[in-house]
Amino acid sequence: SGTPLTGRVAVVSGASSGMGAATAERLAQLGAKVAVLARRKDKLDGVVENIHAAGGTALALAVDVTDREGVKAAAQRIADELGTVDLVFNNAGVQLISGIEELKVDEWQRQIDLNVTGVMNVIGAFLPQLTASAADGRPADLINTSSIAATRILEKFSIYSGTKAYISHLTRLLRVELGPKMVRVAAIEPGMVDTELPDHVTDPDASTLMANLIHDIDCLQSADIAETVAFMAAVPRHVNLTELTIMPTAQA
Ligand code: NDP
Repeated sequence: SGTPLTGRVAVVSGASSGMGAATAERLAQLGAKVAVLARRKDKLDGVVENIHAAGGTALALAVDVTDREGVKAAAQRIADELGTVDLVFNNAGVQLISGIEELKVDEWQRQIDLNVTGVMNVIGAFLPQLTASAADGRPADLINTSSIAATRILEKFSIYSGTKAYISHLTRLLRVELGPKMVRVAAIEPGMVDTELPDHVTDPDASTLMANLIHDIDCLQSADIAETVAFMAAVPRHVNLTELTIMPTAQA
């Protein structure tokens, strides 16, 4: 069927651009009601407009996911307005690569705050809805955005890679507790995707390194990630794709 996600209620963090925006729109096309979270409200409104124009249902909530209470309040509002969430794409993240001796400690902290604490805030706020959905016999998905950086040894990626390794290993551990409750837990580990992600890098060498990579190869596009996340959520309830690496074919 063209609408395999009908009846699902999804939340996407980091949905104002890149992979999150594309995934929110794709999930809605496939029939899910979708709540979109990020800080830039104007961008979120654009995503919601696209979804509405295509006949879908969506709700924009401007939330900084590093704010635990803010995420909790959003979770309540989504439950009230869209219904119990059964699909969480826990995707907001930031990559600020730099050499360790540059001691960009503020950037270390920003990555830890978003990629670790923010990811945990989303899990904490939505887990009760996921387990309630699963207990009702419905599919329930927690899909965390990790990266190939979780396992690769890349110069200047230390803090970012550390946060992504945390997400990948956390995913394996959560599955042990949540799988038996029929909550699927997964990590998607993309290679290079053409998004705004490198725009935030302040280290000039690191940013050149990334720009060259994007320029030189036929990168993944956000739509490729959207299609993959939708597929992970649409497989039968007894099937859990747990760790999915997706690479641009030409990236070594
Ligand atoms: P983008 O920079 O386009 O997307 C990042 C998203 O996170 C934006 O929507 C941004 O919105 C949101 N965000 C940032 N800070 C916060 C915050 N404090 N609270 C809520 N939302 C926030 O890049 P991508 O789409 O590439 O990134 C998405 C995920 O994919 C990240 O976790 C990234 O690490 C991961 N990834 C990316 C790869 C790539 O090559 N691009 C490869 C592998 C993984 P706003 O600023 O409006 O808050």
